[in-house]
Amino acid sequence: MTRLEGLHSRTLVGPPRLRPPDARHRPRRVAMLSVHTSPLHQPGTGDAGGMNVYIVELAKRLATIGIEVEIFTRATSAVLPPRVELAPGVLVRHVDAGPYEGLAKEDLPAQLCAFGHGVTQAWAGRQPGHYDLVHSHYWLSGHVGRLVAERWGVPLVHAMHTMAKVKNAALAEGDTPEPAARVLGETHVVRAADRLLANTQKEAEELLRHYGADTGRVAVVHPGVNLERFRPDARGVEAGRAAARSRLGLPQNALIPLFVGRIQPLKAPDVLLRAVAGLLEERPWLRERIVVPVVGGPSGSGLAKPEGLQKLAACLGISDVVLFRPPVGQDQLADWYRAASVLVMPSRSESFGLVAVEAQACGTPVIAAEVGGLPVAVRDGVSGVLVPGHDPADYARALYGFAADPARLARMSEAAVRHARSFGWATAAAATADVYTAALHERGLLAVASRPARRDPARGDRAPVGRGVGAAGR
Ligand code: UDP
Repeated sequence: MTRLEGLHSRTLVGPPRLRPPDARHRPRRVAMLSVHTSPLHQPGTGDAGGMNVYIVELAKRLATIGIEVEIFTRATSAVLPPRVELAPGVLVRHVDAGPYEGLAKEDLPAQLCAFGHGVTQAWAGRQPGHYDLVHSHYWLSGHVGRLVAERWGVPLVHAMHTMAKVKNAALAEGDTPEPAARVLGETHVVRAADRLLANTQKEAEELLRHYGADTGRVAVVHPGVNLERFRPDARGVEAGRAAARSRLGLPQNALIPLFVGRIQPLKAPDVLLRAVAGLLEERPWLRERIVVPVVGGPSGSGLAKPEGLQKLAACLGISDVVLFRPPVGQDQLADWYRAASVLVMPSRSESFGLVAVEAQACGTPVIAAEVGGLPVAVRDGVSGVLVPGHDPADYARALYGFAADPARLARMSEAAVRHARSFGWATAAAATADVYTAALHERGLLAVASRPARRDPARGDRAPVGRGVGAAGR
């Protein structure tokens, strides 16, 4: 094991450029950018997924350690209020940029200028230094982040979430590749960011290899999971599974392999359906005791064929055992995880895979493809099984392994809870705050950002004292 592999979070890929900053010095207020999807949207379909959950949870945790967060997102309806308080210290600001409805993610590059204008308008007239740092998510936000961070003279911290070059290298047959304009856009953002947050060491290496990122600017911080929400039933994993099954109307003695996520070729739910079909062909008696819930809605290139998975189930002759359910809120999702025997995540590419950790946190082991961040999210042979490649026969074998050996299932369920416990948001938010501190430190802005805030009587806003705009631009 290398020195870096052993660390969970807070890992700088390259050597720090300067003396490590004191962790007590933190920004007071961060402008977070999420152009193409709102933290208020229901995850599990369309453009809303792990990134939305990540932003909400991270922002809440940052606020609890004294860092206010304002999240800017594009308004997608005329009736949205301009500001919504998501939690104490976390504000969502809706920015008008382009038509409210009918814009696909692919249309958004043309609206980035308008969005940037909206963000700077929200800032105009405020005390200089209102925001100490910009944290952008996904390349579209990174573009706006470059502009506003430069204008405000503050650092830009960027999280890619997914990368075009990585996705394109793992495309399912016939799937649409990400366009060259995105690759170019990502390259510019990588160059401009003071710090890049990578979910795993692997993602950090991909940033270096595919985008020429500067090693000293990439920091690995594993995302967290809300361990208060995603936890086993207080009566224990077994009793909790039985209770969740009866709440959801699922049979008690069934093998329940669960799929949760946005339905698109990259997530490969088809591999699970093919695996189940193969399993039932070999062991027809299992049909009486298997239920396969698929929780989520179409997304990305999956939107072109929204009924594609239902048609595949019919084609494979397994419609009677597959339950399609639309996306659900996270509390209900926890019940689906508790009810399942195992979560199956056959993704072709996955920058981390939050659902894998959420399921384990509820006491459900995972069968996952050995790609991207999943080898970090799942401990192979301990809290689940990693499968190299996407051959349905391999997934069928792994599934049957759980069906045939209830003792192993019980053992892995307990181990899954223990493994997931190391992914709390408190650790992830503290590590992110350290990255902010390092970025401010490198710009010589630390002393200013960490000064006590005072109230701006005219606006009721807090602002750090004595901060000059653009005082320390690069
Ligand atoms: N999710 C949800 N309801 C659903 C399906 C998914 O809230 O019905 C959430 C899930 O809890 C997880 C996120 O969507 O946090 C998906 O994240 P993941 O990293 O697994 O995939 P991504 O969407 O980022 O590709």
